[in-house]
Amino acid sequence: MTARAHETCRAIGCIEQVARGQLLCRRHWRLLPGEMRLALGRTRGRKVNGRAAERRLRLIANAINAVAEADRTGTRGW
Ligand SMILES: [Zn+2]
Repeated sequence: MTARAHETCRAIGCIEQVARGQLLCRRHWRLLPGEMRLALGRTRGRKVNGRAAERRLRLIANAINAVAEADRTGTRGW
């Protein structure tokens, strides 16, 4: 099995390719509230477990919800 160089943006319905380990494409990343971007940036690429892993999963779920809401309401982050 070969490692994939790219993954797909995690936003619902988005097929944009993103670099490995990245959650969202540029467009969706920009739709995220600044504090969420910061929080996600802090956890990226780090090995976490236990409570930290749980917190990170919640953070990711929140981020996906936030961009879904922004998409739905037509919010533009830029
Ligand atoms: Zn996207």
